[in-house]
Amino acid sequence: MQMHLFTNQKLILFLLTLLLACSTPQQVIYSPTGEIRKAKNVILMIGDGMGLSQISAGIYTNKRPMNIERFRIIGLQKTHSKDNLITDSSASATAMARGVKADNATFGSTLEQKAPKSILEIAEESEYATGITVTSSITHATPAAFVTYQPYRTMHENIATDYLLLNIDYLVGGGKKYFDRRNNDERNLISEMQTKGYQVKTYLDGDMSDLAIDRSRRFAYFTADGEPITHNAGRDYFIYACEFGAQFLKNLRKEGFVFVIEGSQIDWGGHSNIGPMVIDETLEFDQAVGRMLDFAERDGETLVIVTADHETGGFSIVQEDTKGDLIIGFNTKTHTATAVPVFAYGPGAEIFAGFYDNTEIHDKILRAMQLR
Ligand code: MG
Ligand code: ZN
Repeated sequence: MQMHLFTNQKLILFLLTLLLACSTPQQVIYSPTGEIRKAKNVILMIGDGMGLSQISAGIYTNKRPMNIERFRIIGLQKTHSKDNLITDSSASATAMARGVKADNATFGSTLEQKAPKSILEIAEESEYATGITVTSSITHATPAAFVTYQPYRTMHENIATDYLLLNIDYLVGGGKKYFDRRNNDERNLISEMQTKGYQVKTYLDGDMSDLAIDRSRRFAYFTADGEPITHNAGRDYFIYACEFGAQFLKNLRKEGFVFVIEGSQIDWGGHSNIGPMVIDETLEFDQAVGRMLDFAERDGETLVIVTADHETGGFSIVQEDTKGDLIIGFNTKTHTATAVPVFAYGPGAEIFAGFYDNTEIHDKILRAMQLR
C-alpha cells in the first residue's frame, strides 16, 4: 500500500515536472532533484529609483510590450537601510553588493571596520571576468558600492583610486575627471590603468561602437568627464555597451562572468519630479534588459536579475489625459520605502521569487553561482 502510494507520488511529480517544462520552454524551473542549476554568468541590472509604478508607466507608454514583461519569476525586496527607513543608493547597493545593511551615504565601511567583500570582488578572486556599465559616473554611489571601501559616497576621487585596487575587466561610464584631473593629488589614474594593462578610451576618442577594441585585454571607456547627459539629450552608448560587454566578458574568461549594469538616471528624473524623463530612462533601461535577456536565452548559462535599489519620487500614475497620455503625480523629491520588484531569468532564477531583504540579493547570487 505504501509502495503503491510512493509510486503514485513519483508519477505525479514526474507529470508536474513535465507540465512545468512544457509551460516554460526556455527553462526548467526546478530540476528533478530539487537543486538549482548553476549560473555560470550573472548579469545584475539595477534601475536606480525604478519602482513598480515607474515600470507600469513604461508599460502603458510603450508602443509594444516591455522586455521586463518577458520575465516569469518575480520577487520583491525590502530596501530600508541600517539607519533609516528611507534608504539612499549607496546603502541599498551595498546591501546587494556586500550582503550587509549600511547607513545612508555610506558603503558599510567605517574608519575602524571594513565592509565584507562584494560579489564583484568574490567573482574576481574566483577567476571570473567582471564588468560594470552605468549611465552615471562609475564613481557614483551604485557602482561604487561594488568596488570601494571609502566611508562616504561623496568621495568621488577616493572611490576612483579604489578602482585601481581591483581588476574589473570591463568598465563603461562617466567620471573621467575623477581619474585624470584630480584636486586631491597629482595622480593620473588613467595612465596608471594603462600601466596595469588596461586599454582606456574616452568619449573624446569617438563613439564606443566605432572603436577597435582588443578583446583579449581589460577595457575601460569613459563616457563623460563628469556625469553623462540624459538619454533624451542624446546619451546613446548604454545599450551597445551592455550588449558588447556581455559578449566581451564571456569571451575573456572560461570560468564565467559577473556583470553589474545600472540605469542610473531613472532616479534623477524622480528627484526632479519630471515624469517624461523617468519614463524615457526606464524605457532605455528596458531595451538593455531585452538585449541581456536575448544574450541569456542564447547562452543558456546566464542568470539575469533586474531590480531597483529603491523607489524615487513617490511616483504614481494618477490618470490619463484626453490624448491618452499618462498624468504622473509625485509625493516627494527623495526616495520612498516601498518594496521594489526583482525579476529573474536563467539558472538559479527560482530562488529570487518571494519577499525578502535587499541583503539577500547578494546571498542568492552567490548561491546561484555556487560560490557559497
Ligand atoms: Mg545610482
Ligand atoms: Zn536618488
